[in-house]
This record gives sequence, C-alpha cells and structure tokens, in this order.
Amino acid sequence: MPPAPSPGAFDPRILALPLYEEHHRELAHRLTLWCDGHEDLLADAEPPMTAGPRILRALGDGGWLAFLDGGPDDHRALCLAREALAYAGDLADYTFSIQALAAGPLRRHGTGEQRRRYLPGLARGELCAAFAVSEEAAGSDVAAIGLDARETATGWVLDGGKAWIAHAGIADVYTVIARTGPGPGALGLSAFLVPATTPGLRVRPVPMIAPRALGHLVFEECALPGQALLGRRGGGFPIAMEVLDRFRMTVGAAALGFARRAADAALARALARPMRGGKLFDLPTVRAAFAGMEVKLDAAALLVARAAWETDHGDPRYPRHSAVAKFYATEAAQEIVDSALQVFGAAGLVRDSLMERLYRQIRSLRIYEGSSEVQQAVIAAAIDPYRTARGVSS
Ligand SMILES: Cc1cc2nc3c(=O)[nH]c(=O)nc-3n(C[C@H](O)[C@H](O)[C@H](O)COP(=O)(O)OP(=O)(O)OC[C@H]3O[C@@H](n4cnc5c(N)ncnc54)[C@H](O)[C@@H]3O)c2cc1C
Repeated sequence: MPPAPSPGAFDPRILALPLYEEHHRELAHRLTLWCDGHEDLLADAEPPMTAGPRILRALGDGGWLAFLDGGPDDHRALCLAREALAYAGDLADYTFSIQALAAGPLRRHGTGEQRRRYLPGLARGELCAAFAVSEEAAGSDVAAIGLDARETATGWVLDGGKAWIAHAGIADVYTVIARTGPGPGALGLSAFLVPATTPGLRVRPVPMIAPRALGHLVFEECALPGQALLGRRGGGFPIAMEVLDRFRMTVGAAALGFARRAADAALARALARPMRGGKLFDLPTVRAAFAGMEVKLDAAALLVARAAWETDHGDPRYPRHSAVAKFYATEAAQEIVDSALQVFGAAGLVRDSLMERLYRQIRSLRIYEGSSEVQQAVIAAAIDPYRTARGVSS
C-alpha cells in the first residue's frame, strides 16, 4: 500500500468539489507524497543561494517542472502545486513559482529557437530563470519603467537597473522589461531574454526579512543580439501584465499553503498543551480563534479555486478573479499566521522556529506581484461593467 500523505496541505472536501478534476486530485496526492519524501531538502535549513538550485534540480528530477516545456496551461494545477510546496517550505514554493513565472512569457511569446534554447533546461531544473520588471522608481507603476534599451546595428544595448528581482544571482537567464521607445508610458516597453553571463550585467544581493535569493540588477552597456527581443517591439507591457494577471491567483494559493501550515501547527499545540486542568484548545477564546482561522482558510481556498477554474475555462474576467483571490488569501493568511503564533505564546517568537519563520515569510505576499492596494484598484475598476452586464441599475 502506498504511504498516506500528511493530511495538512489540502482540505480533501474542497479538493473533492467539481471545481477540480481527477488529475488535479492525483497531482495533489503525488506532490504531497513527494514533499514528505523530501522533507530535509525543503526545510529552509540551508542558505537560499545554495538551496535554491538544489531544490530546482529536485523539482526537475521529480517531473514537477515538465509542464514548462510544452505542457498545457493549467492554473488549477499551478495553484495546487504552490499550495503543497508552500506548506512544505518557503524556498520550495519560491523556487518553483519564480521558475514558472519567468518561463511564462517565453512559453507564450518565444520564437521556436528561443523556446528550444531555454525551455528544456528550465523544465529539467538545470537552468534557472528570473522575471525582471520592477525598478526602484517603478514598482506598482510598471508604465514608469526606465531601463533603457537602445537599438544598434547588431541588436540592442541595455543601460539602467532593476530592483527586488527574485532569483537574482542564481538565474541563468532573465526575462527583462525595458524601454525601447520614448513612450508614452506603457507603449514604449519591450521584453528581452538576457543571459546572466552578458558582459555588463551585475547583481547586488539584497538581504530580506525571509532569506531568499533576491537582488538588484545593474545593466552597464549590456550588448544583446537582435534575437534577444521576446515578442514584438512595444509589446512588453501586455506581456508583463498577462503573466502577472495569471500568476496572482497562485500567490493566493501559496498564502493558503503557509496559512494551513501555521493553523495545523497551532492546532497540534493547542490540543496538547495542558492549561487550567484541561487543554489550551478547551478555552472558548482559543476555540473562537480557530473558528476564525477555519472560515478564512475555507474562503481563501474557494476563491483561489474559483479564479483558477474560471481562468482554465477562458473567462475574460479572470484578471478580476485573480486579484480577488490574491487580495483575500494573502490578507487572510497574514491574520491566520498571526493568530496561530498567538496560540504558541512566547514559543512562537523563538528565532528560526516554524512559527517565527512563517511570520516573516508570509509578509511579502501582500506586496509582490501587485500589492494589496493595487489588487483593490483592479477589483474596483472591474465593478461597473460587471454590474451593468447583470442589469443592475442605481
Ligand atoms: C519578496 C519579493 C520578491 C519580488 N520579486 C520580484 C521579481 O521577481 N521581479 C520583479 O520585477 N519584482 C519583484 N518584486 C518587486 C515587487 O513586485 C514590488 O515590490 C511591488 O510591485 C511594489 O512596488 P514597490 O515595492 O516599488 O512599492 P511602491 O510601488 O512604491 O508602493 C508603495 C506603497 O504604495 C502603494 N501604492 C502604489 N500604487 C498604488 C495605487 N495605485 N493605489 C493605492 N496604493 C498604491 C502600494 O500598495 C504600497 O503600499 C518582489 C518584491 C518582493 C518583496
């Protein structure tokens, strides 16, 4: 008989809903088993610059990145994978998600030659990719990007910088959004594939609250051949927005994984800890805290599943659903991790304990791939046409 997976990463009653198909349930089961079998590797015990490539290789060997080279778009599978990996460890989710995010534009817009050059290595976990959009003066406002791409007789020259780039320093190739025309704003942007070995490209590592391979990029007269252009000239903004719209719901899924891990650990603690002649879990206010966590976990799981289902079924409003899932799940996860830590008391604050790590790891999800405020703006912008379509009048 195959070993039973650990119960925590998924709620079997939500997985059983018709929002998922049988192959999704199988994926959730197999990936949970795989995570259990790789517990030491995924335990966030090693520095990210060395752990990242090792995890990537293991994910490739396990076949979890194979979809990057020719597999279908399956947002439900992507969300389930992030939920399981985030439950297992921060770097497992980080490595998987950045690889998939960075490969997205290449999969959708790459020429045959560009795809053949990179996708097989990315799918095996032998090559590592990064997606470089943000700059110090252009985070939420992508249209303000200033990294200059100048056309030359043989190709392009890039000058400027990128900020807060995940996988900086371990990536073999960067998908970079740069300015190829005077604008205005979003119209003057194009995407490029930049090998990490390009002369003039430097990485400035940035230590963050949760240790991850991340840094700023400096481009000094970086010469690229004409074939480095990804997609059409001037198409950089829609390329970036499309991949972010599709990925936001997966950030919600990762938040759910972190939150479930925290809630499960807190429940085990509350059921075992003696308190006033009984157990901590017997206290009404502690039970109320768990009830609150349960409601938020259910709501987040259903919103993520809905967004992924709608996207897989071609709903044109998927960016709105994706924003709703990211906004709710990441905000709720922050609250769940905080409640779970409270159940631990002082023990939850011990440096490098599971709760302390989760407390640090969950924070950035409300900022990257569009902050909570940006999600609110996306959701609000979709309200009017949505209501009118249903015939609601004032
Ligand atoms: C762990 C981590 C990994 C990251 N990885 C990558 C990566 O791989 N590639 C990449 O390109 N970038 C990456 N980023 C950068 C990330 O996408 C930006 O941090 C994010 O877009 C916010 O930009 P900013 O930090 O410049 O904040 P700002 O844009 O300066 O925003 C500051 C504050 O202003 C608010 N604000 C901004 N605009 C609005 C608005 N229109 N309405 C209301 N409020 C608003 C924001 O919500 C925020 O609270 C990463 C960031 C982190 C933390």
